[in-house]
Amino acid sequence: KPQPKYLSGDAAAINEFLDRFDTFLFDCDGVIWSGDHVFERVPETLELIRSRGKKIIFVTNNSTKSREQYLSKFTKLGIPATADEIFGSAYSSAIYISRILRLQPPRNKVFVIGESGIENELRAEGVPFIGGTDPSFLRDMTPQDWRGIADGSLLDPDVGCVLAGLDMHVNYLKLSHALHYLHRGAVFLATNTDATFPSNGSLFPGAGSIGTAPLAYMSGKTPLALGKPSQAMLDAVEGRFRLDRARTCMVGDRLNTDIQFGVEGGLGGTLAVLTGVCKLGDWEKEDAPAVPGFYVDKLSDLLVAGSS
Ligand code: PLP
Ligand code: CA
Repeated sequence: KPQPKYLSGDAAAINEFLDRFDTFLFDCDGVIWSGDHVFERVPETLELIRSRGKKIIFVTNNSTKSREQYLSKFTKLGIPATADEIFGSAYSSAIYISRILRLQPPRNKVFVIGESGIENELRAEGVPFIGGTDPSFLRDMTPQDWRGIADGSLLDPDVGCVLAGLDMHVNYLKLSHALHYLHRGAVFLATNTDATFPSNGSLFPGAGSIGTAPLAYMSGKTPLALGKPSQAMLDAVEGRFRLDRARTCMVGDRLNTDIQFGVEGGLGGTLAVLTGVCKLGDWEKEDAPAVPGFYVDKLSDLLVAGSS
């Protein structure tokens, strides 16, 4: 196996590394911050990269927030960013539906299992949807629901796609609707398939466990996922920005999402940052999903490049 190059403390190697790329795709949790704690000197590091004329895109699997909603987290934490530098899986799903899938009437509506972030991005792309946070779905099933879902009279004839993400209010009514749309032949998409996500120093049920896995199990169908490491997310990034893959580097803390995403996408480089999930030498294990091209102990180790 090839070994990644260690950059921390090596100013010449860091400058050479930065020169190889025009675009840096950044994972957030574990690289930029952990929960609400920003890692030391991250804003300065992002500034250094921008000052060298590089484009930065934050690529996150978090489907609960739109780009605008995610931007308020950056602002609150004091990290300079703009909404169009942010690429979340809610956005990649909306872009995929509107620009790649191009659902046509009469089957152009999306049934959503998810939160307002997904709805906001679908709305911004002009994609009609039902379900989601609509309060009329937040209740128990009535006898009319059982009958009307079974005979199709309560189903919307325009639905051609089911999009499953993290939904904190998922229930039997929503899942029953989604299953029947899938039976009817709706395209099955998932914002992301993460089993869990980090919060408050622990792990909580993720989009994969809440939306995707139950629907895949009950329908027997496999969704196309729009989050890392799925290449559909990279296609969506390319649908939005000009991207020279050979001059693009993916920066992340997880081998099985971020680094695999970059390696499979044929990006020019991948940088593992050891402030999150991946630890030194994890890439040497027999079952390592991907080997990064470079690694640093922490993102701000790249600042050495500014002082040379
Ligand atoms: N999903 C949710 C709801 C999250 O809060 C997070 C991270 O905080 C993730 C997924 C994983 O996101 P990322 O790709 O930025 O690590
Ligand atoms: Ca991460």
